[in-house]
This record gives sequence, C-alpha cells and structure tokens, in this order.
Amino acid sequence: MDDIFTRASRLPGSIAAMSIVEDATAETNSMSRGIRVSGLVREFGPVRAVDAVSFEVEPGSLTVLLGPSGCGKSTILRLVAGLDAADAGRIEIDGRDVTGLDPAHRGVSMVFQSYALFPHLDVRENILFGLKVRRIERAERERRLADAARIVALDGLLGRRPAQLSGGQRQRVALARAIVSQQPVCLMDEPLSNLDAKLRAEMRDEIRDLQRQLGLTMIYVTHDQVEAMSMADRIVLLRDGRIEQAGTPHTLYERPGSTFVARFIGMPPMNVIALDADSEAGGSVRSLLADARVPQSAAAIGVRPEHMVVGDGGLPATVRSADYLGGETVLRARVGTQEIFVKVPGRAAARAGQTLHLGWRPDDAWPFDADGNALSDATAPEPPHDCATRTANPRAAGN
Ligand code: ATP
Repeated sequence: MDDIFTRASRLPGSIAAMSIVEDATAETNSMSRGIRVSGLVREFGPVRAVDAVSFEVEPGSLTVLLGPSGCGKSTILRLVAGLDAADAGRIEIDGRDVTGLDPAHRGVSMVFQSYALFPHLDVRENILFGLKVRRIERAERERRLADAARIVALDGLLGRRPAQLSGGQRQRVALARAIVSQQPVCLMDEPLSNLDAKLRAEMRDEIRDLQRQLGLTMIYVTHDQVEAMSMADRIVLLRDGRIEQAGTPHTLYERPGSTFVARFIGMPPMNVIALDADSEAGGSVRSLLADARVPQSAAAIGVRPEHMVVGDGGLPATVRSADYLGGETVLRARVGTQEIFVKVPGRAAARAGQTLHLGWRPDDAWPFDADGNALSDATAPEPPHDCATRTANPRAAGN
C-alpha cells in the first residue's frame, strides 16, 4: 500500500505546512485515525477557557473549530496536540488515551498561524528539521523533501531563509513540514490568516484536496465562517469555551440551534426578526404576520437573506442601502428598528428610502424562543436536502 507521502506526491497543485510535533516513536502509517475529546476543561485563573467540551472527529474527516475571538479554539487545539495540559477531561487518538502523553508521542502534526519557522535555517532545513530529529535516513529525507517541495511549489526557494520569503511562501513551508512528517492526524490553527483573499481561497482548496486524498484526520481552527462552511465535514461552533452547536455546515446553516449560531453563520447573516418589536407600519411585527405556522411561543423568527421575498404585501421595510455585487444585490433595510438583509439575484432597482414589502415562505422561517434557542429541533435528523421538496408556497407573510 502507498504511504501517505507517496500518495501526496501525486497530488497536483501546491500546499504548504509544518510539523511541530516530532514523533520519534509513534507509528506513522497511512491509516486514518479518529479523535475523541471528552469533558475537556482548561482554566486560566478565573477564566474557564474550555468548559466541558466533548466532540469526535471521524477518521479521515475534517472538523473545523469555529467561533469568535477568545472562545477557546486555540486552547482546545493545543490540548489535543499536547502543548498544554487539561485540568479535566480525556483525549483519545485512534482509540488510545493520549491525555497524559507528551506531544512527541501523539502522532500529530500541527500548522500554526505564526508559521513557527526557524529564522536562521533555510527553507530546506526548516522542512527537514523534524525528520533529522527523528533520525530518518538521509535518502528518505531527500525523497520526502523533493516531493513536498513540488507539492507546495517551493522548488527554487529551498535555499532562502524565512525573512526572504513572502507570507504565502512561509505558509507553504509550514505546510510542507506537516506533509513530510507523514502523521495521519493534522491540527491547523488559522493557517491561512496571513494570506490575501485570493491565495487564501486557493490554499483552502489545496488543503482540502490534500486532506481528502491522503485521508488525514484534521482539526482546523478558524474564526472565518466562510472558511468553515467551505472546508468542513463538521463544524464545532464554540462560544465562551462551550460548544454552542456541532454539526455539518448544512445543519448549522439550515437549522441553527440558537440565534447566536444563526447570526454567526452566513454572509450576510440570518435575519433574526423579533416578533414583538414595532414594525414600520405601526403595531408589532407579529400582528402583521398572518402566518399561522409561526408558533405562539416564538419570540423571534430567523429567515435567511436569500429567502426573503420582495412582493406586494408583507412587512413594510425601508431600504437603507443596496450593494450590487455582480451576481446579486444585498439590500439593507429597516423594519422598525430592526435591520434586515435581503439578497436578490442580479441587479435590484432599489434605492435608499424606498419602501419594500418583505415576506418569506413558511418553510423558510426558523422560530426561536425568548432565550434565543431554536423552537424546532435543530438536532433532529435532517430530511434529504432538496429545495424542490419544500412546500411550494410562495405566499409572503402578511399577504
Ligand atoms: P482567537 O480566535 O482570538 O485566537 P481563541 O478562540 O483561539 O481566540 P483562545 O486563545 O483559546 O481563544 O483563548 C480562550 C480564552 O483563554 C481567552 O479568554 C484567552 O484570553 C484565555 N487564554 C488563553 N491562553 C491563556 C493563557 N496562557 N493565560 C491566560 N489566559 C489565556
């Protein structure tokens, strides 16, 4: 059977990485390994950075830890890597309890936001550093280096020092170090945050391709929901050290468990419309909604901007701005004091100050209670995702 690196070397395109964990003893093979985290706790003085976090990463899959700054993403990753010690909880990799093991014996590679390159070593030495520590024989080191350099398109730059490289090139060196380590588990902490938008998008695809083709088990930390949505098999969305919701990108988008998730995922985010707030037309939003499928216990309903329907009836809203983005226009409107985003295909002829009437199909409304929790069961098994199977009822609310 091909080893990971042999298969990696056949991949097209370019990637970059680094291995921080130099594993002299852990088995390195091409078998994917799963990760299980149970009841993980980490406190820094009065701050509970990680608060009883549990999740699993299927072998060969990519899980994104997502959330706002300070929610505990990096701390969790460092705990899994063994760079920090948990106050409570258990970490298993491939069924093995690694909670008390030092990083070198966990069989993982890691890519940092900061690259963590040695400034006094050139690219070649940076990539090979870990293999030398592990006493991998010279011929094997050279083979891996040649293949990795080609994969990450660093040929011709091997003699340069990090200071002589662009941010993107440094990032590629960091990724190359992870590749040559051949560890089946790879942990990445905001690896693309220093790159420009175009390179970021390219590298996202390359990392995803590499992860899939090598069958790597990967945990990827980011605060960028676009990155999470486009890369993840599963997203673990964190808030203040706790898991707010975990699931597929589709589940988090379509069935957010709370208003926090609804507002975090999506660009622009889901509209969370408070029902008892005043509307533009006087009276509450609720009083204008003739939709019997909005439960009485709902305090708010969530509607995605692309599901808002502009029609002759419905909630009156005042347009504040219209951003033409080429394939679509994003309208920012006000219903009373509430800001509502409306996405319409192509170029919309709306102008600031204009009154629109907004509605949505009943199936596109997602109700929340007064505490911001979803009233529908966000964890229930999803029906097959097929827009055509939704109730074809274009009735706008309030019509
Ligand atoms: P970011 O996206 O900004 O990197 P994050 O979600 O990765 O944030 P962490 O770096 O895990 O968040 O930090 C979680 C919390 O723990 C924060 O409140 C942070 O200030 C605190 N924290 C992290 N490391 C330490 C430390 N070594 N000492 C004290 N507090 C810490």
